[in-house]
Amino acid sequence: MSMLQTVEVTCPECSVTQKMSVWTSVNVKADPHLRDEVLEQRLNVFSCGQQGCDYRCPLDISVLYHDMDGKFCVQYVAKEDMKNPNYYRHLSKQGVVMVPHLAAQMMEKTGGHYIRRPHHVFSMKEMLLYILFRQFCEAYGRDAGDEPSDDGAEGG
Ligand SMILES: [Zn+2]
Repeated sequence: MSMLQTVEVTCPECSVTQKMSVWTSVNVKADPHLRDEVLEQRLNVFSCGQQGCDYRCPLDISVLYHDMDGKFCVQYVAKEDMKNPNYYRHLSKQGVVMVPHLAAQMMEKTGGHYIRRPHHVFSMKEMLLYILFRQFCEAYGRDAGDEPSDDGAEGG
């Protein structure tokens, strides 16, 4: 499920404060168009609605990118959040997302455990590159079942 949040933005150009909806979570299975927004670096870009003002700038908002088909998550951590202890409430000391015990068991069973270990990035550009990388893995990579067998490997 994708999630929107309303924020107030004061345009640095014309000083008019306006409300804007920003994405804090995008699920590209549910909302495939959001993948393009991310890939074209248009997600959470403020565009001033004041007549005569054409100010645009990306807002620094933490956002989770979730590709259920590709089975991966990318978490962008905004600069402000990175320094905010509150941001770490749901993370373990190893940077793993904390979920209720039952949910964790369910995730293990259904192959959804990757959700707890998003690939963390610190720029939206890096998010874009990681998504492209995963698309290349999907296109050219091998199946997990094709892993070389351990036959002949030396025992520990
Ligand atoms: Zn403006």
